[in-house]
Amino acid sequence: MSFLSATGFFLLGVLLGTILPRFPFLMLSRTRGFNTKLPPHPEPLPLSPHLTQRVLHMRMFYWMGLVVVILPLILGIASVRWGNAAFGFGLWVSSSWLILNRLQYFVGGMPPPWTKQMAVELQVLADKAESSDGCCNWASPHWGVSGVYCPNCNSKLSDMLRPDLGRKRSERRPFGFLYLLLTDGHSVLTFFDQIPVAEEE
Ligand SMILES: [Zn+2]
Repeated sequence: MSFLSATGFFLLGVLLGTILPRFPFLMLSRTRGFNTKLPPHPEPLPLSPHLTQRVLHMRMFYWMGLVVVILPLILGIASVRWGNAAFGFGLWVSSSWLILNRLQYFVGGMPPPWTKQMAVELQVLADKAESSDGCCNWASPHWGVSGVYCPNCNSKLSDMLRPDLGRKRSERRPFGFLYLLLTDGHSVLTFFDQIPVAEEE
């Protein structure tokens, strides 16, 4: 096998090992029937039980990756043993990277894009808007890209950045897909947040 074709097979393995375990979050939720209860991307989403449910679904898809990753791992072993070693090695590299990436959270790394606390906070904000201590008489909290706000009184209710929520993205086909692969579901603003800024006292 020439060096060039080995490199090609390796990259193919990496690509497949990157996409396969992310399949649930990349594909499952983007069908039309799955999104009838939510406004189209990128519009802000009104807080509702549907939205809370969606955050929990995305969280499940995210962790499902750790189960689905077994597939490229087995395929990788089989390829190294009986098939194309470069392809198998590529699968192994990207699959083990995914596992490390998911597990880093447990040693104090960056939290996943969707968490249970996020769903709880959304529900608390929605309940508050229904009660008498909402931000205004017509409180209608919406989740925009940079936080939860009320369009009626313009008050910002939470700084929680909005991750991808599994809606069909408004970007044209390959770009939406690439965006998701690069951000892994996180809000892009999360990455700007990592840049340290002087804290205000
Ligand atoms: Zn309001």
